[in-house]
Amino acid sequence: MNGWKVVSCVKPNNQKHKMIKQLLTTVVVSALLSSTVFAAEGGHSHKTIAGPRGGKILDSEPLHAEFFVQADKKVSVIFYNSTLKPVAPTSQQIKVIAESKTGKTTLEFEKNGDAFISKAILPEGDGYRVVVQIKNDVAAKPQNFRIDYKAGICQECKQAEYACTCEHAS
Ligand SMILES: [Zn+2]
Repeated sequence: MNGWKVVSCVKPNNQKHKMIKQLLTTVVVSALLSSTVFAAEGGHSHKTIAGPRGGKILDSEPLHAEFFVQADKKVSVIFYNSTLKPVAPTSQQIKVIAESKTGKTTLEFEKNGDAFISKAILPEGDGYRVVVQIKNDVAAKPQNFRIDYKAGICQECKQAEYACTCEHAS
């Protein structure tokens, strides 16, 4: 403010102080890190998280999957590792069963880049149950995920209604 530059002179004393400060920071950071690890070990969090592409994250194993309805109403499923980095599709088998008012429709999927895309579009309308079936390979046990498919946008979280991350159950 007064135009004077603060000239820092490094006294040995200063250096020592800096080292202690650094050491303390390291201790605090590692304490924080280990408590995070403990929290993760204590139980997998099931809080709803937003999918990187605005879809719904399915708690599949070993990879998480994101159910996302494209603008053309085709469904895309993308797999993610534990840090939500996309993982290219391999041997997984995806099936979506839409239980609309006009009956059940099964959508088959094909690999397309880093996603699985349904060959057909979802049935007309919304407000129906969708079952996403994931198999890690042809012989694996299927993992089923039920989603209430609503096409609108949630006013609170601005996510698609089917992928709403709000705490209220709706
Ligand atoms: Zn919401």
